Amino acid sequence: RANAEKFEFQAEVSRLMDILINSLYSNKDIFLRELISNASDALDKIRFLSLTDKEVLGEGDNTNLEIQIKLDKEKKILSIRDRGIGMTKEDLIKNLGTIAKSGTSAFVEKIQTSGDLNLIGQFGVGFYSVYLAADYVEVISKHNDDKQYVWESKADGAFAVSEDVWNEPLGRGTEIRLHLRDEAGEYLEENKLKELVKKYSEFINFPIYLWASKEVDVEVPADEDESSDEDETSESSSSEEEGEDEDAEKGDQKKPKTKKVKETTYEWELLNDVKAIWLRNPKEVTDDEYTKFYQSLSKDFGDEKPLSWSHFSAEGDVEFKAVLFVPPKAPQDLYESYYNNNKSNLKLYVRRVFISDEFDELLPKYLNFLKGLVDSDTLPLNVSREMLQQHSSLKTIKKKIIRKALDMIRKIADEDPDESYDKEKKDVDESVDNNEKKGQYTKFWNEFGKSVKLGIIEDATNRNRLAKLLRFESTKSEGKLTSLDQYISRMKPGQKDIFYITGTSKEQLEKSPFLERLTKKNYEVIFFADPVDEYLMQYLMDYEDKKFQNVSKEGLKLGKDSKDKELKESFKELTKWWKGALASENVDDVKISNRLADTPCVVVTSKFGWSANMERIMQSQTL
Ligand code: ADP
Ligand code: MG
Repeated sequence: RANAEKFEFQAEVSRLMDILINSLYSNKDIFLRELISNASDALDKIRFLSLTDKEVLGEGDNTNLEIQIKLDKEKKILSIRDRGIGMTKEDLIKNLGTIAKSGTSAFVEKIQTSGDLNLIGQFGVGFYSVYLAADYVEVISKHNDDKQYVWESKADGAFAVSEDVWNEPLGRGTEIRLHLRDEAGEYLEENKLKELVKKYSEFINFPIYLWASKEVDVEVPADEDESSDEDETSESSSSEEEGEDEDAEKGDQKKPKTKKVKETTYEWELLNDVKAIWLRNPKEVTDDEYTKFYQSLSKDFGDEKPLSWSHFSAEGDVEFKAVLFVPPKAPQDLYESYYNNNKSNLKLYVRRVFISDEFDELLPKYLNFLKGLVDSDTLPLNVSREMLQQHSSLKTIKKKIIRKALDMIRKIADEDPDESYDKEKKDVDESVDNNEKKGQYTKFWNEFGKSVKLGIIEDATNRNRLAKLLRFESTKSEGKLTSLDQYISRMKPGQKDIFYITGTSKEQLEKSPFLERLTKKNYEVIFFADPVDEYLMQYLMDYEDKKFQNVSKEGLKLGKDSKDKELKESFKELTKWWKGALASENVDDVKISNRLADTPCVVVTSKFGWSANMERIMQSQTL
């Protein structure tokens, strides 16, 4: 094209495209859902803008917020168009080639190890999946602020952008044309596309239409001279109703005047049901539908189902509906970027209109691993995101969501047969297939346990609820995870405090001299071996009226021993000598202790000082 400007793909993008175009990956279908998802995002954007400025929608067909799929069997072209926000020339250059998203190299790495392309959308590079099925792609786009442009590439390291002087004006939006490879011919079959839209794009909130063929019976004249005959039949049909029987009789005897033939016509066929799942009655939504909804929401099309979900509505002063999910797996960087990443994964809708998926006012940081959606009728529609962010209802919404989220997590434990220790206390729903739920809480804990701990540190209001979710190993847990409730149920008569010890690993802690006497006397001690545990225990002071006692710190009381006083008295001189020998800057005090059995002496941290483990952490700055 004469007016084309050429560009090179950013290096990582180019690498990704190479991999895709040479991929033997059998599930090429995924490109369709990625394109539909992009179309839906673009429609969300224009609809959002239209809330504060009606003009942006334009008029006529431009106001139809929809997605259209069309096939050209002869030219082997599949096109997907939307009436979304569109892209300016600059957008085309940046979004489709020159700016690498942070996920690009992470995804390239991922496919090289797992070979699984299914998660491409999660890495923010879904568009390039078009090259699984096409060897040449055109993106025609019209944004309100610019002219219509064409982006094109054969995935050979370069792409071109030119002002569009060939195609029909789009009005607004984007059309992606895939020139399909020979082996991707199946995407020219209407049934295949219908099946794929059903499978992957069921929960798109805009209508998806297919320009679908339809076989219709038409009467055509049997005679050779078609045009004159047609005139005759149309004239006679209205006036000669009574003559019908006669005609049929004649038809049996003689040659009929007309005959029926199949003719192919085309019309837009709606492929999806746009009723939002969250507006439906939870009782009528199947598990499978929730799983699929989770997948489309999170772009997590992996094999695993979400660990749990909660679908509820809140009424009263603040009305909203919400669906929350616990994903099956934590993203790799969940805790790496914890302190500088505020991004929640809840999508905010106001009266069915998508507002934002970067609304950090809806969830506290420690729950950012949840996926889901909130749709509120109480929030105002026609204000800016910034204004909305200040709205007083958000506090109420947030509070309720946290409660529901914690209930949902507790439910994973309640339904898990492995957690059956205090089943008698709970209403176990016998109808649930508990085999499927077996081990789910351990799985949750391994993926997101740290979030629970961070929650205890950050969220004083829900500290006790979160503490209930806590799991750990102890001197009596036999290698399994146990809970505070379980610990309490095993406490010895007269035992007041909950005992724990902190360190670098369970193995190291098991050998600790601090445990000697406690284990001998059959007390249970919790092992806290995660660096975050030290911080955790600075916030978790008590649970169910029981105090926590670090067994390596001062203040350990194991029930009264009558000999204590006697011992103290008889070793008075020795204690004094020790104190003198260890200059006061090395130790605060020297005391007779009843915490040991075999080891002659230990160094103990003062009640309010850092534990030895905390000192270690501070020195290495591990958190
Ligand atoms: P993601 O959707 O995760 O951002 P993609 O690779 O699917 O990543 O798309 C890249 C970008 O290209 C999008 O963020 C968007 O800016 C732009 N884009 C893709 N398709 C469209 C479309 N149909 N309309 C408008 N912009 C689009
Ligand atoms: Mg996308």
